[in-house]
Amino acid sequence: MAVEALYALQNGFMGAPRSLLFYGEYAEKVTQIPIACWLIKTTDGYVLFDTGVSPRAVPGLMRNDPFARFTDEDLLVHRLDALGLDHHNVDLVVLSHLHYDHAGGAQLFPKSELIVQRDEYSYAHYPASFFEPFYYKKNFELPGYRWRLLDGDTELAPGLTILRTDGHTPGHQSLLVDLPHSGPVLLTGDACYWMEHAEKERVPGVVWNPTLALHALKKLKTVARLVGARLFPGHDPEFWKTVVQAPDAYR
Ligand SMILES: [Zn+2]
Repeated sequence: MAVEALYALQNGFMGAPRSLLFYGEYAEKVTQIPIACWLIKTTDGYVLFDTGVSPRAVPGLMRNDPFARFTDEDLLVHRLDALGLDHHNVDLVVLSHLHYDHAGGAQLFPKSELIVQRDEYSYAHYPASFFEPFYYKKNFELPGYRWRLLDGDTELAPGLTILRTDGHTPGHQSLLVDLPHSGPVLLTGDACYWMEHAEKERVPGVVWNPTLALHALKKLKTVARLVGARLFPGHDPEFWKTVVQAPDAYR
């Protein structure tokens, strides 16, 4: 199995106040942030990194968030369809974590293997009260679905390495994708919201353990430096404007 291409799948936008983006900031100024899924084409099939949000599953999201924007084509099924794919083509679904804007589309993949850290899976079922609003059980309580629970860093396949980056949540993971022409790319998920979080080592405002979240940022930067990878942050609106969007791809 070898990596061939990486597709950015835009899944819409939502509003986020500075206090949720940057730990220790209390400003309520709201920024519109992108929600992203990433599809990796390999010689043996497709791997999806994160499944975005299911807008109708989040009560009041469209009604209460003036920055929320989900077009019909933003829906993950339609993004896959635009590439001539459906859920049968996706063998592995790697979930960075189980927050509702990353696990929202997991139910679209009853035949795929859903890959998450064991600590994330168990915590998401019984989160602390302050984290309950970010976990929607119907996103991941999926009877009959196939889960692969990981303990730490894992080589998924040649060129695809899962890196444990907890702190934002108890079992967050990122994905290092080694592309044949573009070189290595590190899909950070929410371990690094914006480029600014990496550059200034800023901890996300939504956080389970800020110290571990800082360690995760440093780990991402270290790995990126050692292997010459580019960081692709999880919710960065400025970065997102520069991203090559599907059907074009990084190869
Ligand atoms: Zn999150």
